[in-house]
Amino acid sequence: MTVPEFALNDGTTIPQLGFGVFKVDPDETERIVSDALEVGYRHIDTAAVYGNEVGVGRAIAASGIPRDELYITTKLWNSDQGTQSAFDAMDLSLEKLGLEHVNLYLIHWPRPDLDKYTETWHALEQIQAQGKATSIGVSNFHAPHLDKLLADSTVVPAVDQIELHPAFAQAPLREYLASKGIATEAWGPLGQGKYDLFGKPAVADAAAAHGATPAQVVIRWHLQKGIIVFPKSNSRERMAENFDVFGFELTDAEIAAIDGLEEGLRVGSNPDEATF
Ligand code: NDP
Repeated sequence: MTVPEFALNDGTTIPQLGFGVFKVDPDETERIVSDALEVGYRHIDTAAVYGNEVGVGRAIAASGIPRDELYITTKLWNSDQGTQSAFDAMDLSLEKLGLEHVNLYLIHWPRPDLDKYTETWHALEQIQAQGKATSIGVSNFHAPHLDKLLADSTVVPAVDQIELHPAFAQAPLREYLASKGIATEAWGPLGQGKYDLFGKPAVADAAAAHGATPAQVVIRWHLQKGIIVFPKSNSRERMAENFDVFGFELTDAEIAAIDGLEEGLRVGSNPDEATF
C-alpha cells in the first residue's frame, strides 16, 4: 500500500496519511505505535502535551525502521511559548522521542491572549535553521493569526493543523491557507466519534457502493480534497482499516454529498477563545 507523498512549501514531502496519538495512554503508546508501524504507517503525529512522546520514541527505536523512512511530528505546548522556552521544549521533546530531529514541529495553539506566537515562531525558525526540525508549522491558527505572523516572519508555515471533518469542513480557512501555500492538516478527521458521522446517508451510501467502511469513506474524502490526515485508533483492526483506503475512489457526486454534511459543528475548542 503506497501512501501518497504530499509536497510542502519548503521543498519537503509528508506522507498524506498518518497515525495520530492524542489520548493514547502513555503506558500503552509503545505497543499501539508499534502496531501502527507494523500495519504500515510511517507518519506519526504526537505532541508534548499528550505525554506520550517517550512511548512513540520507544516504538520507533524498537521498529528498526530507518529514520529517513519515518515522518514524526510533535508540537510545542502553550505554556512553552516564548524564545528560550521554545528552545528548551524542542530539546525536551527530542530527548523524549530519542531523536536528533523531528520532521515537523508545530506551535500547538495560537493563544492570541498571550500575544507570543510571533516571538515563538521566530524561535521555531531558528530551530529549523539548527536542523532540529526539518519543517515548521502551526496548529489551530485562524487567518488573522497567520496574517499577523506572516507580516513579521521569513519562513511561511509549512502546515496549519486544524479541526476538520465533514460537519466542520473549514472551507474558508482552507481556501485562505491554499492562497498562502500552507498545507492543511486535519485533526479530529473522524469527528472524534462525537457525532454520528458514520450513520449519515452520504457516508453510509458511499460505503455501501464501494464495499468500504464509513471510516474509510471519510478518510478518502479528506485525501481526495488534498488534506493531510492522521486518524487515531487504539485498535489494531481499526488502524488497519483506516490505512486500507487506496483501493477505491469516491466519485465527485459522493464527495459533494459529504460536503453537504457541513453544519459548522465544532467538536473541540475555538482557537480564538482557548485559554488552556
Ligand atoms: P479522530 O477523528 O481520529 O477520532 C478518533 C476516534 O475515532 C477514536 O475514538 C477512535 O476509537 C475512533 N475510530 C478510529 N478509527 C475508527 C474506525 N475505523 N471506526 C470507528 N471508529 C474509529 O480524532 P483525534 O482527535 O484522535 O484526531 C486525530 C489526530 O489529530 C490526533 O490523534 C492527534 O494526533 C491530532 N489532534 C490534534 C489536535 C490539535 O490541537 N492540533 C487536537 C486533536 C487531535 P478507537 O481508538 O477505539 O478505535
